[in-house]
Amino acid sequence: MGIFDKIKQIFKPKENNDISTPNKFDKKVTQEDVLNKETILQKDVINENLASKSVTSKEVQQEVQQEVQQEVQQEVQQEVQEEVQQEVQQEVQEEVQEEVQQEVQEEVQQEVQEEVQEEVQEEVQQEVQQEVQEEVQEENNIQKQKLDRTLDKTRDGFFGKMKLFFSGKNKVDDEFLDQLEEMLITSDVGVKTTVKIIDLVEKYVLKNKYLNQDELKDILKNQIINLLSINQGEQNTQISKPYVILFVGVNGVGKTTTIAKLANFFKNQGKSVLIGAADTFRAAAIDQLDKWANKIDVPIVKQKMGSDPAAVAYDTIQSAIASNMDYVIIDTAGRLHNKINLMSELEKIATAIGKLIPLAPHEVVLALDASTGQNALEQAKQFLKATKVTHLALTKLDGTAKGGVVISICDQLSIPIKYIGVGEQIDDVQLFDKMQFVESLFK
Ligand code: GDP
Ligand code: MG
Repeated sequence: MGIFDKIKQIFKPKENNDISTPNKFDKKVTQEDVLNKETILQKDVINENLASKSVTSKEVQQEVQQEVQQEVQQEVQQEVQEEVQQEVQQEVQEEVQEEVQQEVQEEVQQEVQEEVQEEVQEEVQQEVQQEVQEEVQEENNIQKQKLDRTLDKTRDGFFGKMKLFFSGKNKVDDEFLDQLEEMLITSDVGVKTTVKIIDLVEKYVLKNKYLNQDELKDILKNQIINLLSINQGEQNTQISKPYVILFVGVNGVGKTTTIAKLANFFKNQGKSVLIGAADTFRAAAIDQLDKWANKIDVPIVKQKMGSDPAAVAYDTIQSAIASNMDYVIIDTAGRLHNKINLMSELEKIATAIGKLIPLAPHEVVLALDASTGQNALEQAKQFLKATKVTHLALTKLDGTAKGGVVISICDQLSIPIKYIGVGEQIDDVQLFDKMQFVESLFK
């Protein structure tokens, strides 16, 4: 109850009491009374209030404290939680980011590296290929030029005559064919082969008697190419280590020189080569090969003059097997008292080699001197009757006008020409390429 309500109650007139007729016990209420009463009541209320208040304030305090504490705790907790969450989130984010970044970086790096590597590899490969190709091309060009120069005399002889012969002619008649025949024979193409060529040309121009000089030249060239393609035999491509080459041939044709050139040729290809000096007939022959071996720095197996050539060959193969050589080239004597002796000696050498390597010698190369023209062909025929030959080496094609013999050798013998000698220098040896040969001849 409020203070004023209480005052009102106090001063409220009693029921059925008329003011106008006051009770006799009633005091007259003065202004002062009212004021006093009010003061007392106020004091009470205040005291009461104070008492109640003092009780509640403690509780309130406690509650407030509690509330505040709770709130503060909650806030702090929340803050801490949030902070921790944020920190953890940030850390996790950073870690994940870092990891992802690292992974992505690594992947990208790897990819880029791989790509770059591939590109570089490809480029390097291409460059190396190009360089190798260029080198091969250059080497081919050098070889071609060399062959062209080698065949200068043969070409001049052959086509010098042909130019004269063809000038003003455009009709293929019997007279023309007779003259062509004579020209071929005198260019060392040989009678048999010349007859074949004339036959082919005749058949070809049967329908077309009028031809210009270039057309005639082309016909002749194509017929020669056809001829060279026949009876070329099998080129020995079998890979064996060591690969054994035995050189045979009469004295002076160029065996020893060709052996040195070939050894150098294989060495330049990065192959290991061992030379065997089985021409024990003359001391000079052993010396000559020894000098070459020293010059090109290739090992040699030799014995003193007069020792058994088959024993030297055997020693050479044994040594080549022991030192894991790629190639063995064996020189032999060309001059013996008679053909039977020569044959049996070569047979003995081949047998000795075969004892160590059953399929060897892999090549038996007969060396022929091209500058002797048709004599070389006859010599070859004689030789082939006496011994087994697998390949031919045609030496001294340079400086001779008798290169036409190559055509008749290819035509008449069933043994392929494998090597040609184009000069006296160490690198003057080439692998025979019949197309190149004809191209050069008809240049
Ligand atoms: P071998 O008796 O069969 O061993 O013959 P050589 O190897 O001793 O050679 C005899 C001669 O022919 C030497 O003077 C060589 O220089 C020379 N010779 C060998 N091959 C060629 C060649 O391709 N061209 C020229 N112009 N001379 C050669
Ligand atoms: Mg010799």
